[in-house]
Amino acid sequence: MERELINQPFKKSPIANLDGKPKIAYFSMEIGINEQIPTYSGGLGVLAGDTIKSCADLNVPLVGVTLLSEKGYFYQKIDENGNQLEMPIRFDVANFLKLLPSTTKIKIDGRNVKLRVWHYQYKGINDYMVPVFFLDSNIKGNDNWDRKITKHLYGGDEKYRLAQEIILGVGGVRILKALGYKTIDKYHMNEGHAALLTLELYNQFKDIEKVREQCVFTTHTPVAAGHDHFDLSFAKPMVGDLLPDSFINEITFENKLNMTKLALFFSHYVNGVAKKHGEISRNLFPGHSIDSITNGVHSSTWVSKPFQRLFDKHIPGWRSDPFILRSAFNINKQEIWESHSEAKRELIDFVNGRYNKGMNYNDFTIGFARRQTEYKRPDLLISDPERLINIAEKVGPIQIIYAGKAHPKDNSGKNSIKHIYDVMKSTNGKVKIAFIHNYNMRIGKIMTAGSDIWLNTPRRPFEASGTSGMKAAHNGVPQFSTLDGWWLEGCIENITGWSIGTEKTVNDSSDDNKDRNDLYHKLETWIMPKFYKDRENWIRTMRSCIAINASFFNTNRMVLQYVLNAYFM
Ligand SMILES: *Cc1c(COP(=O)(O)O)cnc(C)c1O
Repeated sequence: MERELINQPFKKSPIANLDGKPKIAYFSMEIGINEQIPTYSGGLGVLAGDTIKSCADLNVPLVGVTLLSEKGYFYQKIDENGNQLEMPIRFDVANFLKLLPSTTKIKIDGRNVKLRVWHYQYKGINDYMVPVFFLDSNIKGNDNWDRKITKHLYGGDEKYRLAQEIILGVGGVRILKALGYKTIDKYHMNEGHAALLTLELYNQFKDIEKVREQCVFTTHTPVAAGHDHFDLSFAKPMVGDLLPDSFINEITFENKLNMTKLALFFSHYVNGVAKKHGEISRNLFPGHSIDSITNGVHSSTWVSKPFQRLFDKHIPGWRSDPFILRSAFNINKQEIWESHSEAKRELIDFVNGRYNKGMNYNDFTIGFARRQTEYKRPDLLISDPERLINIAEKVGPIQIIYAGKAHPKDNSGKNSIKHIYDVMKSTNGKVKIAFIHNYNMRIGKIMTAGSDIWLNTPRRPFEASGTSGMKAAHNGVPQFSTLDGWWLEGCIENITGWSIGTEKTVNDSSDDNKDRNDLYHKLETWIMPKFYKDRENWIRTMRSCIAINASFFNTNRMVLQYVLNAYFM
């Protein structure tokens, strides 16, 4: 740590003429800033949290705005038959967040709704503070239904969702005013959920161009059906006068208020979250200029303790400047292996302690953790158990560790969990399989650091970016994935990991068959033999993941691109 002092971190803000006052407001339906604050569900929220952390590290003058979601998403338990049980999360808000005296008022469906706000500060590496504001409608005097709007992240029906988006967008802009922020001139919408903020800005300025100068929009969804939309006849009374008739055609599609169209209409800068996703978004929304900024992860958050110590020793300054992780090439292989072994022991102990699986420290361990939903094909790896057992008998033992929640209404996602449980029983220990309940940031960190390989099997082109593989790369864990999202940029075959299938999208079941074959084939002939019989080269691959991918796929690089391309222009 002494050497960290020699390497004085960067103190100036990358935004010129900074007077220390916030200039950018970052709106996100979910923010996962801290393992103790469960107001996130997955990738979108974790990205938002990592973005805020890097802004704090880089002195970028930004504030975060989100909903309180005091009951979180849900706590996942799984019974012995693989049925997901959804339990409420207990979260003692006042223990982690501070209630501020400022309030504001909005209208939902003609009713007045009062909002209060909770505060959290994230302190960056140079002590620069980025505040996050959590909006809360649970106030005496509000209608009973309205008091529940900020309780459940992604819960309830369409009406509940639109009410949440009114609070986030309209309430968010108003609360910043009530808090006394006068210097904010960029509003960044992290996904379309926050798009109603544009209508509140229009309400204030009465000038479309002026709103556009101030709005930045990041889209995260590569399929048209995935974009939030509401029947106009339903949305009009809900949103009220803020929804003007003058540009209604530009923001609706098939008589539906489309949040992505709304955000696109009012933003001077729009981006997708990986190069391929930018291209897909341009095809989805012809006529709009859509850039791409590839996602990243916050390096010091996702590097495990053993690798933190290793990097502190060999690469001082990596926390404030993760680009220099490129010099990981200079670390000797033995030390990389020792750090990995320590992270792996933590994962194996965790799994054995909770689930009594008898997993081994030395066996090849595949990690897979993500939302359990059809396009991610969580059961592709175990779809032919005989073949998997056969590979294990031929090349060496296989251990598989799973985690991931299915949305309460996603039955096919829930079926995947059941399917994994069925195979877990039928393989009878010939391939050891564990499913860690209640995937969250803490489990994500243990798994991405402790697995030997990180598996991802999205059906192309549905993975906008994906970020868990970047966390793995920060811990020297190679990824094995279909070529979609960030992996099209991050995969150098046999050097940073391996690909499954081709870049081409076929998008029918034959695609699944091809991908399954390729997955098993590469596991058997390339990956596992290298792990078991060519350890030197295996560790060389691990090291390249850090030097080539962690040095680039981090939120410091990403935030600097937003500063340059979106905020500052
Ligand atoms: C990183 C992370 C994600 C996102 O990972 P993907 O690769 O995009 O699926 C989701 N949930 C948690 C808890 C995470 O830590």
